[in-house]
Amino acid sequence: MKDLKNWLEEKQLKRTAEFLKERGFEVFLVKDKEEAKNVVLKLIPENATVGIGGSITIREIGVIEELEKRGNKVIHHWKEGLTPEEDFEIRRQELLSDVFLSSVNALTFSGELVNMEGIGNRVAAQIFGPKKVIIVVGKNKLVVNLETAIWRIKNIVAPLNAKRLKLELPCVEEGYCIDCNHPKKICRITTILEAPPARTPFYVVLVNEELGF
Ligand code: SF4
Repeated sequence: MKDLKNWLEEKQLKRTAEFLKERGFEVFLVKDKEEAKNVVLKLIPENATVGIGGSITIREIGVIEELEKRGNKVIHHWKEGLTPEEDFEIRRQELLSDVFLSSVNALTFSGELVNMEGIGNRVAAQIFGPKKVIIVVGKNKLVVNLETAIWRIKNIVAPLNAKRLKLELPCVEEGYCIDCNHPKKICRITTILEAPPARTPFYVVLVNEELGF
C-alpha cells in the first residue's frame, strides 16, 4: 500500500514540476531534505546575505546552520527575546536580502503558489525586494486547486500556526476556521503567484518528503 501511495505522490510531484516550469519557475525535484539542502546551498553565493521567512520547512532541511558555517550573513526574526521594534526591523531587513529563502502554504497541482499571512513580510519578500527567491516545498503542501489551497491554509496551516504562537484564536478553540474577525486574526493577506514575479529569479525546490505543515 505504501508503495502505491508513494507512486502516486511521485507522479503528482513530477506533473506539478512540469506545470511550474511551463509557468516560468526554475524547478528542482528532489527526493529528501538532504538533497533539498544541497540544492539550496548551491543556489546561494557564499557572499550573499540571506533573508529567511518564518518557515518550519527551511529549519527542517537544516540549511541555516550550513549557511552560517560557511560565512553567509543570515537575517531572520525567529529569535528569542526580540522586542517588537527589533522584530519589525529584522523583517524589514529580510526584504532587502540578496536571497530570500522560504516556503509556501500550498502549491496547486497546476503550479500556483499560495500563501496567507497576517503581517505580510514573507509574501512581500517573495514578490519584490530580494535579488533571488528560493522556495522549498514538501509533498504535503500539494493540493488539487485554489479552493483546496485556501481550505488547507485556513483549516490546517492557520490553526497549527496559531497554536504554535500561543494565540487564543477561534480556529485553535474549534480546530477549524470560522472566518473570524478577531483582533489577532492571522489570515489577513492572501497571495497567489501564477508565475514568477517579472524581475526576480525564482526557484522552487519540490521535495518528495513531508516538510512543515
Ligand atoms: S480567519 Fe480566524 S478562525 Fe479562521 S483561520 Fe484565520 S484566524 Fe483562524
